[in-house]
Amino acid sequence: MKKILCLILTILTLVSLTACGGENVGSEKIQIITSLFPHYDFARQIVGDKAEVTLLLKPGMESHTYDPSTADIYKITSADLFIYTGKDMEAWVEKVIASIDKNGPTIVDATREIELLHSEHHEGDNADDHDHVYDPHIWLNPLNAAQMLDTILEAICKIDPDNESFYRENAKKYKDEILLLDSDIERTINEAKISSDVDTLVFGGKFAYAYFFDRYDLDYVSAYKTCSTETEPSLTTIYQISQYIKDNGIPCVFKEELSEGKVAKSIAEISGATVQTFSTAHNVSKEDFDRGETYVSIMYQNLNVIRRALVDTQIQ
Ligand SMILES: [Zn+2]
Repeated sequence: MKKILCLILTILTLVSLTACGGENVGSEKIQIITSLFPHYDFARQIVGDKAEVTLLLKPGMESHTYDPSTADIYKITSADLFIYTGKDMEAWVEKVIASIDKNGPTIVDATREIELLHSEHHEGDNADDHDHVYDPHIWLNPLNAAQMLDTILEAICKIDPDNESFYRENAKKYKDEILLLDSDIERTINEAKISSDVDTLVFGGKFAYAYFFDRYDLDYVSAYKTCSTETEPSLTTIYQISQYIKDNGIPCVFKEELSEGKVAKSIAEISGATVQTFSTAHNVSKEDFDRGETYVSIMYQNLNVIRRALVDTQIQ
């Protein structure tokens, strides 16, 4: 009898040990999974070394055509917190969320609390698309980025209240950097407009920048309407944009990062402009990732090329 009792106790102990260890396999730290680079950056700035933050996309991977592997879905369902950017950016998330039970991660839609802009692409399109009517690239307005930081901060504090003051302090520091970035962009654009006749940026790549232009007083001309897969611009569009560049003395045409920029190159060849990169920060290259680039550092690189595009007619 004693033996049996002993055996039962052993089994019970083993079962409870397994149950406790099951949540964060191999690590005591809180596990945070993010779908895109901006919220990956915001989460890691907040948690420092107190949690492990993983970016679901591998560096350099295209985000709009991304489809999670079984291993990725396991990473999400076994994490403590999963942060994504709403169904207009990541349609696959709804299926994954539906499969998560009450023991699964806290799920945060980073577009919560943000006023979304309609996506141009879907105006007048067929009814099949009418679910996806919002532009998901909210972070390209730094004020939205600051709101995303707040949303993510509150979720992390709820999960780990013991370190709340540490998280709040880190978040405040990074929010100040983001707000400084915002005022630097505003001031630079205003100064550039005074010293130059150019007040329009020209895009020859996928267009993800509506929130940026909604925030700052600047015009744009774009060969593509949106960021996701769509028909290539016509030759007429390419010629019209090239002519616009010539007529207005515009020094460069922008393309997005991680892309060959075929259309931007054609426009550059015809018009004599140079091709520059305006990073959308959906994801970063392996080199940028290893170099420790952040949302703020990427946006300052963007600001530098924007300034030169407005004032420097010889941009190379
Ligand atoms: Zn995009």
